[in-house]
Amino acid sequence: MDISRTDCVARDAADPLAPLRDSFDLPAGIIYLDGNSLGARPKAALARAADVIAREWGTDLITSWNTAGWFDMPKRLGGKLAPLIGALPGEVAVTDTTSVNLFKALAGAVAMQAADPCRTTIVTERSNFPTDIYMAEGLAGWLRRGHTVRLVDSPEDIPAALGPDTAVLLLTHVNYRTGHMHDMAALTALAHEHGALTVWDLAHSAGAVPVDLHGANADFAVGCTYKYLNGGPGAPAFIWVPERHQGAFMQPLSGWWGHATPFAMAPSFAPCAGIGRALCGTQPVVSLALVECGLDVFAQTDMAALRAKSLALTDLFIALVEERCAGHPLGLVTPRDHARRGSHVSFTHPHGYAVMQALIARGVVGDYREPHIMRFGFTPVYTSFAEVWDAVEILKHILDDNAYDVNAARGTVT
Ligand SMILES: *Cc1c(COP(=O)(O)O)cnc(C)c1O
Repeated sequence: MDISRTDCVARDAADPLAPLRDSFDLPAGIIYLDGNSLGARPKAALARAADVIAREWGTDLITSWNTAGWFDMPKRLGGKLAPLIGALPGEVAVTDTTSVNLFKALAGAVAMQAADPCRTTIVTERSNFPTDIYMAEGLAGWLRRGHTVRLVDSPEDIPAALGPDTAVLLLTHVNYRTGHMHDMAALTALAHEHGALTVWDLAHSAGAVPVDLHGANADFAVGCTYKYLNGGPGAPAFIWVPERHQGAFMQPLSGWWGHATPFAMAPSFAPCAGIGRALCGTQPVVSLALVECGLDVFAQTDMAALRAKSLALTDLFIALVEERCAGHPLGLVTPRDHARRGSHVSFTHPHGYAVMQALIARGVVGDYREPHIMRFGFTPVYTSFAEVWDAVEILKHILDDNAYDVNAARGTVT
């Protein structure tokens, strides 16, 4: 292949998305390849946080629910996020956590299947992000109506797992470990053929790959804002309910924010029309406000341009690792096929945890996932081609010199 660092610098110079990096405050001396887990801080977030805290809260106090638009923020931000996932404004709310939104979406979908008492199976993947499985188990157990969670072992096994007993097919679009991306349209069509509804988790998709929920005729979706969307640590997640399901969508966390007339203080719940019924209670306003700073960066570009750069970055990383680190026991886990690849690349190494710790100590921040997987996230809004080159050089030196501690101690969050 024979790519040099000079070539990578030239690609950065020709990259129309390169100026977007200026929207972020990244510390000097760090190559940040973990935007798939916690996105970097938009520069605007600092002033926004100060304004929310000093003026909206400090000075304007309770009037800010109206004057600063606090109450409407989940829906207003949902409208800004909608184009990134092929949704309409009015179909997305930014609220709660991904886990909680998943519970609401699953419960709403299961309830829509209640007319058929045989549809009691929630199908998902054993390799799904654990909270998705745990939330499905929690719902199934709590319902006490014979619901079960069926785990499939590989994407190829999904078709055979669907049948007349399937209530919901719950899938994460891009797998958090491997970076494998499902064909959302094909799997949704298959689920519908069997009478099942689909719930898609877009945690590793929103802001990373183009998503067309309407094009795929999907039923429900949830996702994170603190990963590729750069909303900040613990930023509220999102939930999508398409217009065609909104009337039938009843979720059990029927708090007052989902009420048709919340300030009438009525003694009984009546859901509001629209996506508002996906809301539960009072939102973390400071954190929610910062989500907008991340979304505003995406308003300056589009997912097709970001996807082209993401694929170029991941292609480059795979090629450079395979060329420059040849001979070391690295195994590519991520699909080479563009149609099946998300925006992170995972390699196994027998001492993956230790090698990742050595990389982090040298300023290359990726992360580690069991078993043996080193994960490198490529965030097209701020990762450069030269950084890909430099990260691989550092990896090569660590491997060539055995410069890692196989007894590296584990932190609480790995
Ligand atoms: C990151 C991630 C989550 C996180 O859920 P939280 O409730 O925000 O902790 C859920 N599902 C998937 C697939 C993820 O990748």
